[in-house]
Amino acid sequence: MEDCLFCKIIRGEIPATKIHEDEDTLAFLDIHPAAPVHLLLVPKQHIGSLSEVDASHQPLLGKMLWLAPRLAASQGCTDGFRTIINTGRVGGQEVFHLHLHIIGGKDRLPAMIHHD
Ligand code: AMP
Ligand code: ZN
Repeated sequence: MEDCLFCKIIRGEIPATKIHEDEDTLAFLDIHPAAPVHLLLVPKQHIGSLSEVDASHQPLLGKMLWLAPRLAASQGCTDGFRTIINTGRVGGQEVFHLHLHIIGGKDRLPAMIHHD
């Protein structure tokens, strides 16, 4: 994926502050943090969005969710955190390479979903 921003970060063509790397995934700091801790966890394989996953991606998706609390804890989020995957236009996705936001800090995060 020549022009994909996160593929460029994975290939080292664009700098990022890496927090974790293994053979399947990379985690780095979000450039515009929404809270004191804001990581993005991405698969190294280019997957455009959560809408594009198939059954073969189940181990990878499981690994990402397994990693999330470990990465959060490594950044000091010992009392909870939030994970977000924005998907497609309605979900407000801006970068079309699947990514899991891991967001936290010392204070409680604002409610994300408001009920009428
Ligand atoms: P989304 O709206 O879910 O697609 O989120 C895309 C995220 O990527 C946003 O939170 C951006 O701040 C973040 N972002 C964009 N460019 C970069 C970059 N070069 N390095 C790190 N994070 C980035
Ligand atoms: Zn990509």
